[in-house]
Amino acid sequence: MSKKKVKLVSKKGIRSDKRKPDELRPISIEVGTLDKADGSAYIEWGGNKILVAVYGPRELHPRHLAMSDRALLRCRYHMAPFSVDERKNPAPSRREIELSKVTREALEPATFTELYPRTVIDVFIEILQADGGTRCAGITAASVALADAGIPMRDLVAACAAGKIENKVVLDLNDVEDKVGEADLPIAILPQSEEISLMQMDGRMTAEEFQEAFKMASEGCMKVYEIQKDALKKKYVTISADIEEESESEEKEDKQE
Ligand code: ADP
Repeated sequence: MSKKKVKLVSKKGIRSDKRKPDELRPISIEVGTLDKADGSAYIEWGGNKILVAVYGPRELHPRHLAMSDRALLRCRYHMAPFSVDERKNPAPSRREIELSKVTREALEPATFTELYPRTVIDVFIEILQADGGTRCAGITAASVALADAGIPMRDLVAACAAGKIENKVVLDLNDVEDKVGEADLPIAILPQSEEISLMQMDGRMTAEEFQEAFKMASEGCMKVYEIQKDALKKKYVTISADIEEESESEEKEDKQE
């Protein structure tokens, strides 16, 4: 039986989900979703749905992992069994162990861990629904959740990938593009210093394609950074509006008494 070829880019350069080559999928971030965590964020990025919870700095168990000069940033990237088409085994896979490690390495340069020696900052990234690019979406949401937890940070960490499909360099590959495409280049940046804290590559690109993809992904990160900042601002605007409303109603009650 012949395999039906999936067409990912039209002659006009439009992708299967109607995006232009340099267009991000829709992204929305909600800050402070979980009451019981010290900090949290929920991100929807295209078809990805990811929840992040941050705890700490808090006492570290087991104690032998403690570091005398800084906090341990402990990241767990985990895919829910229902996050992909076929049930995923809930036990940590090699891929999840790798993504937990690269997530920690992407977030660590932005975090003042040296302020909290011998403690741990736990970051739980739960992939509820996966659609390609979950490491970038997870890192993006985790840095917002760290800020929400009040952890002092040098900057947020914004992540985004670019890649190659049908010989064209495109931004932010979705699941089909990731699987059928030729290459994927996820990066994470501390936008103010332009420090790169994550860069991985799957597949093959020429040096010119790599440069184009890197530029595209960096520009994508800057757009993600704006969305992160807006999400954080939105939370504090809502809180100050709530406080104002509360004090106004208290004033009214006082007058009536
Ligand atoms: P990323 O999610 O960062 O792009 P990968 O390139 O490893 O990481 O994975 C690409 C996509 O493949 C994921 O976003 C997800 O949609 C899908 N995927 C990953 N693991 C599984 C799995 N065990 N079963 C089915 N699909 C998966």
